[in-house]
Amino acid sequence: MLDTKRILVTGGSGFLGSFLCESLLDDGHDVLCVDNFQTGARENVRHLLDHPRFEMLRHDVTVPLWVEVDEIWNLACPASPVHYQTDPVQTVKTSVMGAINMLGLAKRTKSKIFQASTSEVYGDPRVHPQPEGYWGNVNPIGPRSCYDEGKRCAETLFFDYQRQCGVNIRMARIFNTYGPRMNPYDGRVVSNFIVQALKGEPITLYGEGQQTRSFCYVEDLIRGFRALMDAPDDTPMPINLGNPGEFTIRELAEIINELTGSQSRMVYRPLPQDDPTQRRPDITRAKELLGWEPKIALREGLIRTIEHFDEVLTRAAASATP
Ligand code: NAD
Ligand code: UDP
Ligand code: UDP
Repeated sequence: MLDTKRILVTGGSGFLGSFLCESLLDDGHDVLCVDNFQTGARENVRHLLDHPRFEMLRHDVTVPLWVEVDEIWNLACPASPVHYQTDPVQTVKTSVMGAINMLGLAKRTKSKIFQASTSEVYGDPRVHPQPEGYWGNVNPIGPRSCYDEGKRCAETLFFDYQRQCGVNIRMARIFNTYGPRMNPYDGRVVSNFIVQALKGEPITLYGEGQQTRSFCYVEDLIRGFRALMDAPDDTPMPINLGNPGEFTIRELAEIINELTGSQSRMVYRPLPQDDPTQRRPDITRAKELLGWEPKIALREGLIRTIEHFDEVLTRAAASATP
C-alpha cells in the first residue's frame, strides 16, 4: 500500500521547491506549500493550484507555524547572491529563525525534516573538490556572509535538535543547480548568460571568468533529494548533491553562445567580493549511501533550459506588444 503523507514544503513556490512539490504530488502525497513570495513566483505553482492534494499558504517562516504534518522540507531562503544581498538581515532571519521554527514544528509533530543547505558553507574552498568533512573557508562579515553563515547556523541548529531533542534530520549540501523555472532576472550565472545570449546582449563575465562552478540539472537534483529523504535513519548527514563536471565561467559562456547560436560578445565586469574561485562536489557519499549520481550532462540540461527561457522571453515580448 502506498504510504501517503502530509508534507510541508517551505519555499515551495521557488525554483527547486516547485519541482519538489510536483514530485511529491506524483507519488500520491498531500503537499502544503508555504512561501512568502519574496523570490518565488506564483507562476511556478499555478499549474498545481487546482490539484486536490495541493495547498498553498502565504507565510513567512521567520514566524512560528502551527500545522499538522508528517514530513517537512525546509527550502525557504533566497538563493541568488543578488536576491540574498538585497535584504541581508532578512536572509539571516529566514535561515536561522526559519530553521528554529521548522525544527520546533518537527519536534512537536515528530516529523522527519530536510534542510536545503548549500555548497556555500565551504566558502572559498581551500580543499578541492569539496568533501562533506571539509569545514570551509567563510568570511563571517562580508556581503555573502548573511547567506553562508545563515546556512551554517541552520546546519548547527539541525544537528543540535537531533542531538538534544532526537529530531530525525536530513541535510543536503546543494551545489549550483539550474533548469527551467529559474527566475530569469535573479542574477545567477546560468540565467544571466542565457537571457543575454537570447537577447543578443553582451555576456557579462565577472573577473577574468576563470573561476569554476559545477552545474547540476534540476531533475537530477530532485531525484537526489528524494533518495536522501528516503535513506535509512542512521545515514550520516550532510550529503553533497551536485554534478562533479567542473567548468570555468568563461567555458559556460562559450557553450551557451554556441547552443543559442548567439553572436553575443563577452564583456568583463568586476569580480564580486569573496566570490569563490573554485567549486566542485565530491559526491562519493551520495554515490555510496544513496546510489545517486547525476545523469544529465551540462549541454543537455542547458538545451532544455534555453528552450524554457526562449518561451518565457517570447511570451513577455508578445504581451508587451500593443
Ligand atoms: P528560490 O529563490 O527560487 O526559492 C526560494 C523560495 O523561498 C522562494 O519561493 C521564496 O519566496 C521563498 N522564501 C524566501 N524567504 C522566505 C521566508 N522567510 N518565508 C517563506 N518563504 C520564503 O531559490 P531556489 O534555487 O529554489 O533555492 C531553494 C533552496 O535551495 C534555498 O534554501 C537555497 O538556499 C537552496 N540552494 C539552492 C541552490 C541552487 O543552485 N538553486 C544551491 C544551494 C542551495
Ligand atoms: N514552533 C512552531 N510550530 C510548532 C512548534 C514550534 O512554529 O508546531 C516554533 C515555536 O514557536 C518556537 C520554535 O518553533 O519559536 C522552537 O520550538 P521549540 O519547541 O524547540 O522551542 P521553545 O518553544 O521551547 O522555545
Ligand atoms: N557570474 C558572472 N556573470 C554573471 C553572473 C555571475 O561571471 O552575469 C559569476 C559569479 O561571479 C560566480 C559564478 O558566475 O563566480 C556563479 O555565480 P552565481 O551567482 O550563479 O552563483 P554562486 O556565486 O552563488 O555560485
